[in-house]
Parts: sequence; C-alpha cells; structure tokens
Amino acid sequence: MTASNNETQKLRLAIQKSGRLHDDSMRLLKECGIDISNGVNKLKAEASNFPIEVFFLRDDDIPQYVEDGVADIGFVGENVVYEKNKQVKVGEKLGFGKCRLCIAIRKGESYTGPQFLDNKRIATSYPVLVKQYLNKNQVNGEIHEISGSVEIAPGIGLADAICDLVSSGSTLFMNGLKEVETILESQAVLIQNLQLTEEKSQTLARLLFRIQSVKKAKNNKYILLNAPNTNLDKIISLLPGMKSPTVLPLAEPGWSSVHSVLKENEFWDIIEQLKEAGAQGILVVPIEKMIV
Ligand code: ATP
Ligand code: ZN
Repeated sequence: MTASNNETQKLRLAIQKSGRLHDDSMRLLKECGIDISNGVNKLKAEASNFPIEVFFLRDDDIPQYVEDGVADIGFVGENVVYEKNKQVKVGEKLGFGKCRLCIAIRKGESYTGPQFLDNKRIATSYPVLVKQYLNKNQVNGEIHEISGSVEIAPGIGLADAICDLVSSGSTLFMNGLKEVETILESQAVLIQNLQLTEEKSQTLARLLFRIQSVKKAKNNKYILLNAPNTNLDKIISLLPGMKSPTVLPLAEPGWSSVHSVLKENEFWDIIEQLKEAGAQGILVVPIEKMIV
C-alpha cells in the first residue's frame, strides 16, 4: 500500500471543540492508547499511533458532518443526535455527558400531567424532541425555540414551561423552576456514517474494542484479600471473578490470598459479606483496561 493511499483511509472522528463533551472525549481517546498531537486551537489533529484523524467541531454540527461523510464517526450527545435526526447509525454509548432532557414549570404551580402543557408556551432549544413528546401525549403546546438561557424564560414572561437539559437540577432550582417530566435520558454516543469503507470499518472495530475494554474496566474493580483457609470456600463463593478467583497460599499457615474482579455496582454489598466471612486486609484497586 502506498503512503498516500494510507492517508486517505484514516478514520475521521468528529468531537466537540470546546464544552462539556470535549475533555471526556479526549480522555477516552487517551485511555484507548491513542495519542493526539495537541490540536486544541486547530480544526483537526492526527493520532501518532492509530489511523485516526480528529476534527474539532460544534456539537450541533457533528451529526450533519457524519451524515455527509465529511467525518466518518463522531462523539456526541444523544440529545443532539435525536434532535437533528440525521441519517447516521447510533452505536456504542460512551458513559459520559450524562444528562436528561426535562420539562420544568414554575415551582409554585401544581402539575397535573402532560395535559398541563395544553395551550401553554414552552421555551426550548429542542423543538423536534418537544414536538414529538407533545404529539405522543396529544397535547397542543406552543413551542418557542430559543438557543440559550432557556431557564430564564418563565421568569421574564416568555414562556409557561421550559424543556432543557438537566444534570443536577440546581440551575432549575435557582430560577424558581421544578422538573416535572423527563423526555429523554441522554449520554454521549458514537455515531457513524452509513457507508464506511471496509478499511475504515476495520479501524472502527479496533477503536470499539478499545472503548469497550476501557468501559468494562471502569465498571469493575480488582480486589485482593486475605482469607482464613477454614472459610475459604465461603469467601470464594461470594466472589464472581472473570472466571474464578486466584487463590495463593500466604507465608502464614492457615491463610490464603484471594484475587478477583468485582462489579462497581455490587461492590459494597460483597465487601460487607466478605468481612462477615472473615476476610482481612481487603485491597480494592482500579483496573486500567479489561480484555475479556
Ligand atoms: P457547542 O459550542 O459545541 O455548540 P453547547 O453549548 O451546545 O456547545 P455544551 O453545553 O458544551 O454544548 O453541552 C454539550 C453536551 O453535553 C450536551 O448536548 C449534552 O449532551 C451534554 N450535557 C451533559 N450534561 C449537561 C448539562 N447539565 N447541561 C447541558 N448539557 C449537558
Ligand atoms: Zn451545541
């Protein structure tokens, strides 16, 4: 293969130039072992050790670029993907940029269900998703599209309700609003062009394999503990492990060292049971990559 041929087959990834998804997108690439030469003030940057090129764009533009094939893949919020409604394949969830698209109304008002919105003015930057929600609930709200600071709209008399992204809810609270419906749970996802070449599909498969390994590692912890041999069977039965736990004899007679992998979400429950079963010196360490 010639060098120029090689050049044209690089996978082109679009990520947010600056904003809430930028740092996590760059971090994920780094965790996948992909070195991007600094390109923060540029439009694009190349990886030195993986056939990938990164374009830095506004998040709203990413679905269009991927549909057109200017970029092959993109990292972008589901909220943007479904609002823009472009012809792209929505793939792997990336585990960051988590938020929800919510309807909120003035704190003092009592909410009676979606019918509350009938003939009300709803301010939002997500007219398509709000319209879908209203149609689904057979409600006739009046949508006012605004591009930013949606949460102040009720306070200045521009709207009766809003639909906006929320993560903690503190912005709503500070503006005298309360959340009444979630219309979409969102996080960053990988989107892809519908017609990738064979070579690019293969590069994408390599990238996905790395992303999945990083995600699995984040959801798991490595655990080491000392177990009295008298209770070893009980302790082993509490540990799921990737296959089965590793058990090594300790220098001290009657004791073994047990190593295994635990899921983050079952972690505290299992630790308590292990202590009850006589486990000591429990160490829990993060896993960097997990290949299964
Ligand atoms: P751009 O300049 O790229 O258009 P933006 O101002 O539209 O940026 P950001 O505020 O940086 O966008 O948000 C980018 C994405 O981060 C959102 O589309 C959403 O997917 C995600 N996100 C996560 N939490 C929140 C939140 N609390 N508020 C807004 N967006 C959030
Ligand atoms: Zn944006």
